[in-house]
Amino acid sequence: MRTEKQKTWSREYYYRNRENITAYLRERYRTGKQKKRLLSHEMSEEQRLSKRKSQSKWYQDNKEKRQRYLREWFAKNKDRRQSYNATRRGYGVLDRKTVQTVYEENIKEHGTLTCYLCLKPVEFGSDSIDHKIPMCRSGSNEKSNLAIAHKNCNSKKSHRTTEEYLKKN
Ligand SMILES: [Zn+2]
Repeated sequence: MRTEKQKTWSREYYYRNRENITAYLRERYRTGKQKKRLLSHEMSEEQRLSKRKSQSKWYQDNKEKRQRYLREWFAKNKDRRQSYNATRRGYGVLDRKTVQTVYEENIKEHGTLTCYLCLKPVEFGSDSIDHKIPMCRSGSNEKSNLAIAHKNCNSKKSHRTTEEYLKKN
């Protein structure tokens, strides 16, 4: 079991050396020394089943450990418990159709996909769906709470509401 200190250290190490680590891993994948971790849509049905099986086995085998971990986590993070539950409850699921509508309406309004935070066009691949009121602050997955933003703008906004974000920027 790793201590908090070790965890913090390795997290910091990772951030400091992110580029080197990524380059190293990329090289390992390229030379085939490390198997690429498949995304679920790249897996065959068989692989998917075996993954699900091993996950559920782990889940069963570690039931107590997991519950203890969660209890400890909640005890340490009382203020975050509410946001955790809010995210889990989901306040309605983000469904594909809603997302599609948000994209379509954005394009209809601006002529091209546009970030609602900085009002600049969004290139393909740097788009993201933002929750105007974040999920962790009890925002919903309804269309009225969703908007298109640059990935960068979205992560800069973080856990703030749109109002809070725009006031500061
Ligand atoms: Zn933007």
